[in-house]
Amino acid sequence: MAAPTSALAPKTLAILKRLGVPAGAYAESGLTARCPIDGRPIATLATTSESEAKAAIGRAYEAFLAWRAVPAPRRGEFVRLLGEELRAAKEDLGRLVSIEAGKIVSEGLGEVQEMIDICDYAVGLSRQLFGLTIATERPEHRMMETWHPLGVCGVISAFNFPVAVWSWNAALAFVCGDSVVWKPSEKTPLTALAVQALVERAGARFGGIPRGLSEVLIGEREIGAALVADERVPVVSATGSTRMGREVAPVLAARFARAILELGGNNAAIVAPSADLDLALRAIAFAAMGTAGQRCTTLRRLFVHESVYDALVPKLAAAYGSVSVGDPLKAGTLVGPLIDAAAWRGMEQALADARAAGGTVHGGTRVDTGAPDAFYARPALVEMPAHDGPVLRETFAPILYVLRYREIGEAIALNNAVGAGLSSSIFTLDMREAELFVSAAGSDCGIANVNIGPSGAEIGGAFGGEKETGGGREAGSDAWKAYMRRATNTINYGRTLPLAQGVTFDIG
Ligand code: NAD
Repeated sequence: MAAPTSALAPKTLAILKRLGVPAGAYAESGLTARCPIDGRPIATLATTSESEAKAAIGRAYEAFLAWRAVPAPRRGEFVRLLGEELRAAKEDLGRLVSIEAGKIVSEGLGEVQEMIDICDYAVGLSRQLFGLTIATERPEHRMMETWHPLGVCGVISAFNFPVAVWSWNAALAFVCGDSVVWKPSEKTPLTALAVQALVERAGARFGGIPRGLSEVLIGEREIGAALVADERVPVVSATGSTRMGREVAPVLAARFARAILELGGNNAAIVAPSADLDLALRAIAFAAMGTAGQRCTTLRRLFVHESVYDALVPKLAAAYGSVSVGDPLKAGTLVGPLIDAAAWRGMEQALADARAAGGTVHGGTRVDTGAPDAFYARPALVEMPAHDGPVLRETFAPILYVLRYREIGEAIALNNAVGAGLSSSIFTLDMREAELFVSAAGSDCGIANVNIGPSGAEIGGAFGGEKETGGGREAGSDAWKAYMRRATNTINYGRTLPLAQGVTFDIG
């Protein structure tokens, strides 16, 4: 077992105990949970073997058979209790998110608030899982559609939203009558165990939920692959890199399972001549540097009109130079650590590529906090001569590439000229530009904003993106439909058998 040498280990283990994580979760060998704040081990966790994963999926399938028979508003009551548990645990769970993912405290708490919000949303939804009544051409017939629970819902999540992504899926899946098997990121297993403990508390208060309704598989990507391959799992929501999506999607397609893919982003913003530059500056700073550049919706490319470039970019460079980088648990810190050494190496490589391509880099240096195993970086603002090279790929670190543009059509074309299609923004007070940006001829992303940055979505809207982002939608709007199966029912309450389209078939 890796010795729990992180200075935060005692505090973290106390939080986990308060949240109800059983002592049996820890083991002599298995998966080491690390704290990016000092880069040291917090605990070693028992991992799930392939046969244990199969057994967990089997339990989840049995749980589904029982849960689908529970009326949806009753299922909503369970999710309401889960929301209550999350409210009560917000401080502890939010801090745990900060400790394990390296987010500043307000973002750790914000992530738990997002879980509470989606629970509230799902409770209301539990009375609104309705279909249409459709006009039929046949007399004394009625046609309608009904929505039924689908089955076991697999959830694979990334390290950067270690718990909110699960809740976007699970809160909906539970009210839809599905069970959930979760493979959290191997970089953030502790928060997953804490959430599972809260699910169990809510289940006990509910008066008992079927065993297996919520399962967690602890391990590396192989255990995720086992979940994806299992025929008993009709829908998998997978959040992570586009690389992961390319591996997962063909396996799901081959067995005709549903895929909700939430993959990488390479998000842009346009700053137009009429923009409110103070507002734009603040929005860009949060979207590009917040969460140390480790959000799927992080702003990575900025297109500034040549007429406002000199008014905006030096101010932005000054903000990059002064933003506080350091311990995310300390008040006043805005940028915490990168998740690990590999993330820092990726940042170094992208900046080297940008320099080689003629870019001017502001910031981007490693910040020494006295913890040699932790990786803190001053965010980098990179003025680029061309939309090429590292600008075209997502580097999961705080790097913002800036380019000039001359006319709006060119800026929109650049916005769309990358593989990913997650989020995008325009800063403008010109309604023609704003409307063009959100029109069919505008941004090709799943999220297109005006006068706010591309990150920081609310749960009421459907979240997700196009192209290499995978096409999935989660959270609000009609995203719930992905967790249910639709049946079209035609009912004949007459004594004759008129066939559709006037077909006759008279057997005498
Ligand atoms: P990652 O792709 O390395 O891992 C994500 C998850 O997928 C982990 O749980 C991992 O174990 C699992 N996984 C990897 N390969 C797998 C396979 N072949 N089969 C089954 N499971 C597999 O991503 P990460 O480094 O944890 O997160 C960063 C990435 O996630 C970025 O690209 C970011 O943009 C993306 N992301 C997207 C969204 C979104 O909603 N679009 C949200 C958060 C993060």
